[in-house]
Amino acid sequence: MTGSAAPRIAVERAAAHEHGWLVESAHRTSEGVVQYVRCAGCGVRRVDVAAVPIVVPAAASRELG
Ligand SMILES: [Zn+2]
Repeated sequence: MTGSAAPRIAVERAAAHEHGWLVESAHRTSEGVVQYVRCAGCGVRRVDVAAVPIVVPAAASRELG
């Protein structure tokens, strides 16, 4: 019984928390901003793509004063 228990525990541990993603690197592409992220808790890595590129804020009013 002990032989089959170990892998199952490992899977449960990996899924037991909500990943806290840290951005290791990011760069712009024509698709958007690609971010290489890593979970600080378990070390799992993932690639995220922000579909909408970061937009420079536009002025909502004229200059005052
Ligand atoms: Zn994690």
